[in-house]
Amino acid sequence: MDGTRKLHIKSYGCQMNVYDSQRMTDMMAREGFEETAAPETADLIVLNTCHIREKAAEKVYSELGRIRQLKQAAAREGRKLLVAVAGCVAQAEGKEIIRRAPVVDLVFGPQNYHRLPDLLAQAERGAKVVDTEFAVEDKFDHLAPASAAATRARGVSAFVTVQEGCDKFCTFCVVPYTRGAEVSRPVATIVAEVERLAGAGVREVTLIGQNVNAYHGEGPDGPSTLGRLLRRVAEIPGIARLRYTTSHPRDMEASLIAAHGDLPALMPQLHLPLQSGSDGILAQMHRRHSRAEYLDVIARLRKARPDIAFTSDFIVGFPGETEDDFRATLSIVDEVGYAGAFSFKYSPRPGTPAAERDDQVEEAVKVERLARLQAAIDRRQSIFNEQCVGRTFDVLFEKAGRRDGQLVGRSPYLQPVQAMARAALIGEVVAVTISEAGTNSLFGTLARPASSRHRAQLASLET
Ligand code: SAM
Ligand code: SF4
Repeated sequence: MDGTRKLHIKSYGCQMNVYDSQRMTDMMAREGFEETAAPETADLIVLNTCHIREKAAEKVYSELGRIRQLKQAAAREGRKLLVAVAGCVAQAEGKEIIRRAPVVDLVFGPQNYHRLPDLLAQAERGAKVVDTEFAVEDKFDHLAPASAAATRARGVSAFVTVQEGCDKFCTFCVVPYTRGAEVSRPVATIVAEVERLAGAGVREVTLIGQNVNAYHGEGPDGPSTLGRLLRRVAEIPGIARLRYTTSHPRDMEASLIAAHGDLPALMPQLHLPLQSGSDGILAQMHRRHSRAEYLDVIARLRKARPDIAFTSDFIVGFPGETEDDFRATLSIVDEVGYAGAFSFKYSPRPGTPAAERDDQVEEAVKVERLARLQAAIDRRQSIFNEQCVGRTFDVLFEKAGRRDGQLVGRSPYLQPVQAMARAALIGEVVAVTISEAGTNSLFGTLARPASSRHRAQLASLET
């Protein structure tokens, strides 16, 4: 035993939770906690949870069953293991979690994780602690930045939260209740965070938010838009690639669309969830746009950046969804020609308007529609991936591949790309010619540049 306490954090759900978990890890490093991947050695386990669908929430309770055994084993060894539930399940269920799973010592919501050291001190004194009040102070003002070493260990691609919460209140969605109202971080603090990341070797930054393109943080001359923020972040030396997610179609404003045409660092791939292709269902979901308006946004983006590719989220079996409504969703998959998409069965979330409706779709119908939709999406994804064969892409190499001498990187379209290349190319953007498309990855070889000097350089880098 070296006296350092150990922290194990498990993240569920979206990238926002991944980012929050990293910030909790950075903050607890200052309190003397070292991160461990092995929960059985931990002194503190944090489950950073997701409440978006019922299945996601239930996973937390089954994990807590396993953790109960770890806590008992730790007690037998004379150690005290503290267990925390953070994130959106914590926000939605509060003290009910401790009632259902007495193994839990602390419960705190997404807006309160900067208070973890204080909450932990209370739990160490034996209290059961629940903190799900929306904090009045801004948690970002209270957080420690990651050390350069921790940043490097996390790789060359990083997330940065720029906006949190949501004011849209789609009728199926729990986010406005668990994450609260929309809040944007000021431009200056985001720029400082990205500069620090770039200084530690990060080459790609994805700006994230539940509704990221509603960003309206304070800039040098008043509130900024996401388009203006992206222009500012693109100027930071060392940052080769920018992305942002997740966007709402209603908030794709002109400066953001223009940024896709103007900023070479902004990657030509956009996740723009549609949820349903049916106007009737879109209205009942309170999405605030029609199918035609969505297609118009797609057309404007394609005009600004002709090589842009789109991905989406879809929900099948929203209350009252008919076969015709569902076919409208199926048809838009081909009409847009998505490069990929996530699709989900509608899951009634307590407290949301759609969950109260008495025209819920039967489970068997949801299952059948989901299978048909996934088949259509898979078909489009294969077409998109096949069309990449023979093309040469800039690939940002991220890490070693499974095979000796192989690296894995990402294409501009976020596809994993595997190629034989020396480890020195990790963190570099390199031209790769795609030779083969697998189900989830592309395979390629380093592209041959024209001059003999470049060829010699390349020969020294290939394995
Ligand atoms: N803000 C994003 C937007 O408006 O598109 C979505 C964020 S949400 C965290 C991610 C996805 O989960 C949604 O796009 C939706 O497809 C899905 N989702 C949300 N609530 C759901 C529910 N009750 N049942 C099934 N899927 C749901
Ligand atoms: Fe949920 Fe997204 Fe709708 Fe907000 S915009 S309520 S996060 S689905």
